[in-house]
Amino acid sequence: MIIIMLGAPGTGKGTVAGLLEGKLGYKQVSTGDIFRKNIQEGTELGKLADSYISKGNLVPDDVTIKIVQDRLNQPDVQNGIILDGFPRTVAQAEALDNILANKGKKIDMVLNLTTPEEEIIERIVSRRVCPNPQCKTVYNVVMNPPKKEGICDKCGNELVQRKDDNEETIKSRIATYMEQTSPLVEYYKNQGVLRTEEVSQKINRLGKDVANDIERDIKNQK
Ligand code: ADP
Ligand code: ZN
Repeated sequence: MIIIMLGAPGTGKGTVAGLLEGKLGYKQVSTGDIFRKNIQEGTELGKLADSYISKGNLVPDDVTIKIVQDRLNQPDVQNGIILDGFPRTVAQAEALDNILANKGKKIDMVLNLTTPEEEIIERIVSRRVCPNPQCKTVYNVVMNPPKKEGICDKCGNELVQRKDDNEETIKSRIATYMEQTSPLVEYYKNQGVLRTEEVSQKINRLGKDVANDIERDIKNQK
């Protein structure tokens, strides 16, 4: 099973992908997490990625595609994968189609999350994340705060705010999404694999509701 998470920053891709990993047992692979880990460890890739991420720009396609290609060869993703944050350009989507075709695999579902822009900005500035790579739980200091301020409920780690989660960078991340990633909605609609879900407080539909529905539908298909 291959699931792709699509959607602007702050729509809840990581949250839904994490929930689906727990429910369905497919491995969540987030290119953003891979870049952040490398930034933290100060690798060459990290230095390169940081120069783009901090400005709200995309990391170049050749670099990103190579990372995902290598990741797709590893044993822990052979049963199923939830790609979170990849592809983000048409070139990445075409490359992924080629990689999968060579393996005799195909995309089962592209889950396209949408959220009104004002909610996105609000959500991102109040987002706090658990930096523990085994946990990565996402909190919102307004909507979904941890029980103890600044501490992860699940693992006790100190929560952090992502460096690119500030209002200025968010605006450029949203613009980047509009220009470079949103054409993928049409791309995958044409492939017949797109499923669009709104995640919004206004309609009282959160990431966990979407994850529950997807879990039910996938289990019913079997
Ligand atoms: P969000 O969707 O909340 O912006 P991510 O963790 O998915 O967060 O991505 C963080 C940043 O990492 C992006 O703004 C971008 O700079 C970079 N990035 C992540 N995935 C990709 C990708 N597939 N191609 C290029 N850059 C990427
Ligand atoms: Zn944690």
